[in-house]
Amino acid sequence: MNCIFCKIVNGEIPCSKVYEDEYCLAFKDLNPAAPVHVLVVPKTHIESVDRTDAENIDTVAKVLLALPKVAKALSLENGYRVITNVGEDGGQTVKHLHFHILGGIKLAEKLN
Ligand code: 5GP
Ligand code: ZN
Repeated sequence: MNCIFCKIVNGEIPCSKVYEDEYCLAFKDLNPAAPVHVLVVPKTHIESVDRTDAENIDTVAKVLLALPKVAKALSLENGYRVITNVGEDGGQTVKHLHFHILGGIKLAEKLN
């Protein structure tokens, strides 16, 4: 499958890793939108959070379980924002589920 994030998970494309466990990988966004901008992805391919189902819910849950660990590793004690984009209108450019973690600054309240 021609998926950038599957290639990053497989080590075919390098990344700046900040956290890894059996189920997910977190790495710095190539084009950061905040002082801290990390992507947390499942190691198996799921297109987006819109594809969450009874079969993959455990994998999705493992990614959510990793979020506080990633935030701790990034020293985001003061808070952070989690975003996951879905499809064309949601602005999703990479079709492999990922949660953006943004922080390191007081973020703007506007979401669009
Ligand atoms: P989306 O727009 O799909 O929610 O977010 C995709 C994100 O992936 C973007 O913020 C983009 O900068 C990031 N990105 C795209 N290609 C790569 C890559 O090869 N490496 C890394 N580290 N980030 C990438
Ligand atoms: Zn993928």
